[in-house]
Amino acid sequence: MKSLMIDKTEQMIYLDNSATTQVYPEAAKVAIDVMREMYGNPSSLHGVGIQAEKILTVARQQVAALVGCKREEIFFTGCGTESNNWALKGIADAYGVRGKHMITTAIEHPSILETMKYLQQKGWEVDFIAPDEQGIVSAEAVIEKVRQDTVLVSMMFVNNETGAIQPIEAVGKGVKAKNPQTFFHVDGVQAVGKLPIQVNRLPIDLLSGSGHKIHGPKGVGFLYVAKGVRLIPLLAGGGQEQGWRSGTENVPGIAAMGIAAEKTCKALKEKQEQMAAVRHGFIAALQEKIPDCRINSPQEKKGAWHIVNASFPGVPSEVLLHYLEDAGIYISAGSACSARKKQHSHVMRAQGLTEEALASAVRFSFSFDTTAEELTYTAEQVAEVVREVRSFR
Ligand code: PLP
Repeated sequence: MKSLMIDKTEQMIYLDNSATTQVYPEAAKVAIDVMREMYGNPSSLHGVGIQAEKILTVARQQVAALVGCKREEIFFTGCGTESNNWALKGIADAYGVRGKHMITTAIEHPSILETMKYLQQKGWEVDFIAPDEQGIVSAEAVIEKVRQDTVLVSMMFVNNETGAIQPIEAVGKGVKAKNPQTFFHVDGVQAVGKLPIQVNRLPIDLLSGSGHKIHGPKGVGFLYVAKGVRLIPLLAGGGQEQGWRSGTENVPGIAAMGIAAEKTCKALKEKQEQMAAVRHGFIAALQEKIPDCRINSPQEKKGAWHIVNASFPGVPSEVLLHYLEDAGIYISAGSACSARKKQHSHVMRAQGLTEEALASAVRFSFSFDTTAEELTYTAEQVAEVVREVRSFR
């Protein structure tokens, strides 16, 4: 393991928090303690099993408090991808007799887009709604597509590449007004812990979340399922999670996600406004130092505080990424999952970026611990790299 470690004696500025976050030390400690000391199977009827079951109950409450719902409405999964797959396939299987139409957007995470494509192969009709040039999908455009046979609308809360906040409340209300039987699923993976969400006060039936985006471990996620909504399980087996998600629960991971949810809840209350100002300052610094840069994220309240996407014409994304890494700054050339595919972002393509802007788009993503000083230094380094790379041409 030691040989894989990054040398932290040098200054390191981690700005890839939308790909994943550093696990809170308290969450890591709980995971280890549970793994070593409280190793029971929550389905066992003896004391050791009951202890593990209690750990799940506490974590369920912590996650429920973060998103504003009842404990019984949280189901643990293996990741955000599973939650998204389950929401779509589970609704399709449970309610397919009502119709075969779904609506989503063109800027969703692949776990939604690929599942929708799968459902299309199974005979479902799916509308993919494009965003505007800021990356925001119009509520009216979604609502207009709702029909009598529309079984589900699925839309992300915050886009993972640009941070664009989508009009979730307006979509939910409009969809329900047009067809009260249509379910509304929200991919909340980039919104949970970043925006104050009270899911029970919103017209949302299902909400996906992921542990590793809120300083919990990888390999745990959850799906909020509003009371009364039925889902067919993805996995057949022992009937854990009230019979809805089979497989022995990842108790250490879930316990750690619970602690992370609790800490994130507190940080959100204390720091959200401050972080919005930090983001604003970073965008202003980039614009001042590199006047022809293109900010691909919406500004002010339309953009979540933790993501800034920008293009620097003439400087390929990977080149900027590697130069910045040499300066101890870690960013992303798109979303983590698309970065290795060497394809330009489907999100920014849908937003209408030119080929040049697509080729030079990078994402800076923050945590509550990101400081204004770190971002001032980052903006200076970006400006230096841009100057240097352009001077070669
Ligand atoms: N949805 C969005 C918006 C995401 O950003 C991600 C991960 O980047 C996922 C879903 C998938 O989450 P996980 O990595 O837990 O599978």
